[in-house]
Amino acid sequence: MDNSYRHDDALVLMSGGQDSTTCLFWAKQNFANVHAISFFYNQKHSVETKVAEKICADNKVKLKTVDISFIKDIVISNLFSGGGDVAVGHQLDSSVPSSFVPYRNLLFLTVAAGWASTLNIRHLVTGICETDYSGYADCRDIFVKSAQVAINLSTDLSGRNLVIHTPLMWLTKADEFKMAKDLGVLDYILKETMTCYNGSDKKNYYGMGCGTCPSCVLRKNGYDEFVKKYGSV
Ligand SMILES: [Zn+2]
Repeated sequence: MDNSYRHDDALVLMSGGQDSTTCLFWAKQNFANVHAISFFYNQKHSVETKVAEKICADNKVKLKTVDISFIKDIVISNLFSGGGDVAVGHQLDSSVPSSFVPYRNLLFLTVAAGWASTLNIRHLVTGICETDYSGYADCRDIFVKSAQVAINLSTDLSGRNLVIHTPLMWLTKADEFKMAKDLGVLDYILKETMTCYNGSDKKNYYGMGCGTCPSCVLRKNGYDEFVKKYGSV
């Protein structure tokens, strides 16, 4: 990455999962100071906000937690607390997983952009990834690029245009584990991050989780592929 960012600060969108935590460590290596923002939105795995708090405290990163739980009353998703099975098709489009939360990432990015403007930060970092995007339209690279343009056009504050960084965009889960290893944080990622849709803290060799939800399956398969591709940990 271009060293020109070394004197700038960054705001990381933090969920407490593998993706965002890997991004947090990536940002700490590439920016001067790193802040984080996390969202409570009545997600099934709301334990992730507690996990995000612990990870930020462990790594001396200032965290802002924002309550956007009103979206449960607005949009349909089985990812909300009390919702149905996350392994079936979405009510709005059966080819999309029921865990999809319509407009979530645009909302996250807009709120994060607002907090970044208050902190005088011009770099957002998000773990959005197209490789394993599972039919989530707002995980596509073209969505993030469009959101950056729209967010900047929506404010146009002098000299304050935002850049949205997506270091994981084209990585597989296996490559993401490799990135964590290269950053020297693989053990931490395995022990401390919460990716499970059911919020299970059951310990497995590939990290915490129930082992059966789509997110756990993706993580387990990615870890197995990482070990196969890059040798032993
Ligand atoms: Zn799980």
